Amino acid sequence: MTKARAIIADFQHGSLDVEQEILKDVATVESLDVHNESELWGRIEDADCIMVYHTLKVTKATIERLKHCKLIVRCGVGYDNVDYAFARTRGIPVANVPDYGTEEVADSAIGLMLALTRGINFHNTFLRPADADWRFHHVAPLYRLRSRTFAIIGLGRIGTAAAIRAKALGMDVIFYDPYKPDGYDKALGVRRVETLDELLAQAFVLSCHCPLTPETHHIVNAATIEKMPPGSYLINTSRGNVVDVTSIPAAIASGRLAGAGIDVLPQEPPPADHPLITAWRDPQHPAHHRVILNAHNAFYSVEGLRDMRVKGAEACRRALLGQTLRNMVN
Ligand code: NAD
Repeated sequence: MTKARAIIADFQHGSLDVEQEILKDVATVESLDVHNESELWGRIEDADCIMVYHTLKVTKATIERLKHCKLIVRCGVGYDNVDYAFARTRGIPVANVPDYGTEEVADSAIGLMLALTRGINFHNTFLRPADADWRFHHVAPLYRLRSRTFAIIGLGRIGTAAAIRAKALGMDVIFYDPYKPDGYDKALGVRRVETLDELLAQAFVLSCHCPLTPETHHIVNAATIEKMPPGSYLINTSRGNVVDVTSIPAAIASGRLAGAGIDVLPQEPPPADHPLITAWRDPQHPAHHRVILNAHNAFYSVEGLRDMRVKGAEACRRALLGQTLRNMVN
């Protein structure tokens, strides 16, 4: 009997031992390692299941080619790069791997916050020139974190993990999440607010943990940042387009934001002439010392990356054996 074909579309190159170990008796495993969706065409049509990472879009144009695919699994949390609604119309389940990096992303959000609010990043870049004034005054004012408000957009897995960490620092945690059932505020000992405006008005640190949807696209923008208190901080470890990052340089220059920690950008890697990148690279711009950019690495740990692969392959195994699927998103 011919074995099923499990395809890894992108991101994984090198040894596939992790996936092969899990799927060896039910499927062959092949990595295409493509960078553009059109490179899949001609190579993916007879796949029985597909593992997709975050570097690729899987649109209708690919999905309508699939002849007998039993599962598309997004080996990660955010599944905005897969047209899951169209896949449903073709009877193809789409699942994600929701938990491989919950702690890492929350740790990264808190790490970005601490690096900014404690002046760690500021000093690290400010002191680098040989003639730097080796004193702390340039970063002033910094404020004690205890009792300051940590404001979360999206109290899901990562938002909750960030809330627990911020509480451990003595912060007053509030959240805005219209889709969360009642009771999480009580279970966690945090405060719920009903509107985004209420959240923004109280935010000392605003941390985004919602998915990218039409509703959350640019939910943080120049107008919403203006509603935050002067000297507040913005952290985004969710998706690049949740924040209109072009508004950050002006918000830093005006002092509305004292800092921004950005793990995710609308385009990764960003174009060199993007306004945030040019401000961040310019030693004369205040964003140079007050913005931290990372390369969408908040999720990364050795253990998390392995979990992603293991759980993606296990999802394929369940689909190929006709078992109940988990973590379906369509
Ligand atoms: P989750 O689904 O557990 O939580 C998302 C929360 O956002 C839910 O509670 C949902 O109700 C809420 N939400 C949805 N729409 C909202 C809106 N309009 N306003 C406010 N809240 C809204 O997901 P998670 O595991 O916590 O992950 C959150 C996001 O983090 C993912 O969607 C993904 O995009 C991002 N992420 C980033 C990285 C990284 O490396 N930077 C890694 C993993 C996940």
